[in-house]
Amino acid sequence: MRLILFGGPGSGKGTQASFLVKEWGIPHISTGDILRKERAQGTELGKQAQTYMDQGALVPDQVIVNMVANRMVEADAQQGWLLDGFPRNVPQSLALEKMLEKIRQPYNYLLFLDVPAATLQDRALNRAKEAAAQSEQKRSDDTPETILKRVHVYEQETLPMIEIYKSHPKFVHIDGTLSIPEVTAAIQRQIGGES
Ligand code: AMP
Repeated sequence: MRLILFGGPGSGKGTQASFLVKEWGIPHISTGDILRKERAQGTELGKQAQTYMDQGALVPDQVIVNMVANRMVEADAQQGWLLDGFPRNVPQSLALEKMLEKIRQPYNYLLFLDVPAATLQDRALNRAKEAAAQSEQKRSDDTPETILKRVHVYEQETLPMIEIYKSHPKFVHIDGTLSIPEVTAAIQRQIGGES
């Protein structure tokens, strides 16, 4: 199974991704997670990405595209994968289509967890406030300002890309405002799966 999961920051994408990778036994390729790991390890790539991430801005396309291309040729990604957080704008989607054609790995579904931007903002700010109150901010890029910027970038860059994908035969629209189990069930109805 090869899945591409779209959704804004705080859309529940990470939660559904973890269910899906377990269910299908596929690697979870999250560009955000890879970048955070690179940062924690202090690599050159991590250093390059740092400023952008802390501002809630997108890391330059070429950096991300190379990073994903390297990840997709690893052994565990040959039987399937779930892409989370990539592509995030039109140029990245064009680069991905080219990349998949080259390695002959067409995707099965483009899943879009649709949550209105205003709801994303409310959800994300509440989460940031809760985390601050308990002083347990888990991610250095989870300040209220960064979150608002991420939602803005989603509206400006990611939604226009999704608009183009909407007419694709493999595009699946999921109402992301439903509860977590309802979203999981809706995904299963569309793509199959048991639990
Ligand atoms: P995420 O965990 O997906 O919200 O990503 C966290 C941060 O990593 C984003 O705010 C961006 O700075 C960076 N990032 C992750 N994926 C991408 C991408 N596909 N293109 C550009 N930047 C990205």
